[in-house]
Amino acid sequence: MTADSTAAQNIQQARDTYGMDVWSDGFFQIDSNGHVTVTPTENPDLAIDINSVVDAALESGSALPLIVRFQDIIAARVQRLNRKFREAIAEAQYPNQYRSIYPIKVNQLHEVVAEVLEAGREFDAGLECGSKAELMAALPLIGDDTLLLCNGVKDHVMLSLMLNAQQLGQQVIPIIEKYSEFEQLLLLASEQEQTPRLGVRVKLNTKGSGRWYESGGSRSKFGLTIPEVVKLVQTLKARDQTDSLELLHFHLGSQISDIQVLRSAVKEITQIYTDLIKRGCQIKFLDVGGGLGVNYGGDYENSESSINYGLREYANVIVYAVKEICEERDVAVPTLLSESGRALTAHHSMLVVPVLGVHRPDSPPLTDELNEDEIPAVLSRMQSTLADAEKHDVPGILLECYHDAEELRSEVDQLLRLGYISLEHVAQSDRLYWHTCREILRKLQAAELSPPPQEQLDLEEQLTDLYLCDFSVFHSIIDHWAIDQVFPVMPLHRLDELPTRRAQVVDLTCDSDGKIKNYVSGQGNANWLPLHEHQSGERYHIGIFLVGAYQEILGDAHNLMGRVDEVHVYARDDEPGNFWIEESLKGLSTQEMLSQVQYFPNDLDRRLNEFIRKQINTGVIKPTAASRILNNYTKRLTETTYCSTEVIHNHK
Ligand SMILES: *Cc1c(COP(=O)(O)O)cnc(C)c1O
Repeated sequence: MTADSTAAQNIQQARDTYGMDVWSDGFFQIDSNGHVTVTPTENPDLAIDINSVVDAALESGSALPLIVRFQDIIAARVQRLNRKFREAIAEAQYPNQYRSIYPIKVNQLHEVVAEVLEAGREFDAGLECGSKAELMAALPLIGDDTLLLCNGVKDHVMLSLMLNAQQLGQQVIPIIEKYSEFEQLLLLASEQEQTPRLGVRVKLNTKGSGRWYESGGSRSKFGLTIPEVVKLVQTLKARDQTDSLELLHFHLGSQISDIQVLRSAVKEITQIYTDLIKRGCQIKFLDVGGGLGVNYGGDYENSESSINYGLREYANVIVYAVKEICEERDVAVPTLLSESGRALTAHHSMLVVPVLGVHRPDSPPLTDELNEDEIPAVLSRMQSTLADAEKHDVPGILLECYHDAEELRSEVDQLLRLGYISLEHVAQSDRLYWHTCREILRKLQAAELSPPPQEQLDLEEQLTDLYLCDFSVFHSIIDHWAIDQVFPVMPLHRLDELPTRRAQVVDLTCDSDGKIKNYVSGQGNANWLPLHEHQSGERYHIGIFLVGAYQEILGDAHNLMGRVDEVHVYARDDEPGNFWIEESLKGLSTQEMLSQVQYFPNDLDRRLNEFIRKQINTGVIKPTAASRILNNYTKRLTETTYCSTEVIHNHK
């Protein structure tokens, strides 16, 4: 076989190894150099090598870890969602329209919201907010034609801000979550002799599916019960204001995994809608909430990181269910809204992390040759276990060798605790143990047992390398730690070579949870990731994909790892490499991070300065060296909280 065709085969295999067909949604590919590329627009020829983007970002002063945002992907997702609904509406001959509403809590970054609005303009898309700060961010962005819905707990300040906006002619609709909000809204509106516009969140009987199922259903924290909805309508009727109620809403929770649950909720809300219309309400909008899921990888049956439907089916289920019931009950169909957040932003952003080093638990350093006369009995038994494993290929015997090795290892542990064995001998036993394990695993794998015995799975896990990467799970992919959300992870280059190591990705934090535990692969989720051999100081960049929804804003400051640098990238066919970087944002410096926990740079500097002066006075250090030390400290305060990728070389 030629080198070229081997490379092509390896690339094909990498797509499967890293499960790209499941999660890439057509945006990510591997080129013939074995580099991951992105095609962020609907033009398949406009491909960008992600490695070139990283190079350009580093050249212009950004540092790793780096968030790369492909702004065109946001636009592409907004367009895909709205077009799928337009297709469903045309096919079903649904006599009204659909408008997508972006809940900004999913990613509030100004550029993200602006991109969603820009791409959504031709579809009359709108925004949703869920708190006072989000409302205040959104109000100036919407002009007088963009719909802004407001969920969440609303105090009188928020309600009055919304009434003000309505006075200004803005399309702002508070969605009543509890009855008392409605009463407050009426009081405030009366004070200003205003007729309010409002919507209602309904508690449905249908429970959500997937992790957030409690967001829907009768135990949900939010929403009015049917008796409360009826009372609200009667109150409006008594005031001759039934047309105030413009919108009905439900929300089943994020990442709905089962489309049947959505269908049942849509049917339930449509029944309520038709009933209220028959009671004289003039509801315009039916809002099916968020929850449109994203396929992060893994198989739908066993994982809440996957869904059992696509955009097309999602749109069809909603459009047809509403149409059928409205036709049956002879009621005009409403404008459809969905508050899709995750589905619009998850794909557009990725995190690039460099590998800093590799730790191999199974390769303890060599110790000096031991004097044969002094070898304790347990070590000679370990030697003969190894010899057996080397001699035999029969799985049964290999498993026996493995059990013996385990037994002998715990014997060594005991001897160590009792002080009956020297450290040299412990080191030697460690080497023998791992050597035996590697030999057994190699032969068990060659035997291709199906299913593999538990011992083989244990060995596979024990014999993985730890790839230390410059990032924090808690800051950048907190849902992986908090709720076992799976994110696609893969190297960004060298994909024309077969990965030969079994690895786990671990982060910088001093926390055993600071690692990626589950990986997407073509063979289902695995607890290790195939990676390439890595030498210290060598460039090896790993991408963590689909991190554009929720992660950055939920991320925390464990070990004071701060916000990372980021670049915003647009595709353009007349630029070198098919892209340009519109903006680079600096992450948080060490001093900015520290001041969040009340350590202020001036004070830190002053204290260190005083201490250093004292050490000069008592002759511990000379003034020139002392001032160099102080300057180094002060300079580092302004730098990143993550690692410098510089490695000190031995120049001798
Ligand atoms: C969080 C939330 C959303 C967004 O849900 P996604 O699953 O991201 O689409 C929509 N509506 C409400 C009320 C929410 O709380």
